[in-house]
Amino acid sequence: MALEKTLVLLKPCTVQRGLIGEIISIFEKKGLRIAGLKMMQLTDEILSEHYSHLSEKPFFQRVKDAMMVCPVVAIALEGVDAINVVRTLAGPTNGRAAAPGTIRGSYSMSFQENIVHASDGPETAKAELARFFKPEEILEYRLSTFGNIYANDEYL
Ligand code: ADP
Repeated sequence: MALEKTLVLLKPCTVQRGLIGEIISIFEKKGLRIAGLKMMQLTDEILSEHYSHLSEKPFFQRVKDAMMVCPVVAIALEGVDAINVVRTLAGPTNGRAAAPGTIRGSYSMSFQENIVHASDGPETAKAELARFFKPEEILEYRLSTFGNIYANDEYL
């Protein structure tokens, strides 16, 4: 299994509800490495690109507007199989349907106001990391606890 990087956005609902620290802590406690972290105010332009797969949906503009209510927190996370691990941690899109213990299942009552965005595959992760981070904002360092997080044959 290879080390992968994935993009997470803590949505405005998370910032407004004072959950930034709590959600970041979930990723840290899981054993994911924070490779990049910053706040940013999103624009209609970047969101039209980010949510282009939703452009025909009736809620497209509403979803974009909700992402511009205030700054979001963009996070680049790294770990073995990180893309799937983070999607599993996030849970399904609809917070009301998400299992307890998942982030959306624990913190969201909504389809839209669902706490986090998480990349859904290797191609998307690559494109999304490049969309929200400059190359120099993604930092390569090793956690000294790496050997406590993985067995030595679990990563490439
Ligand atoms: P996910 O974020 O789980 O990958 P999508 O890419 O399908 O889901 O949708 C992007 C975002 O658009 C969702 O996280 C959610 O905020 C919003 N959204 C998607 N579907 C709906 C819906 N049916 N009603 C309201 N908001 C939605």
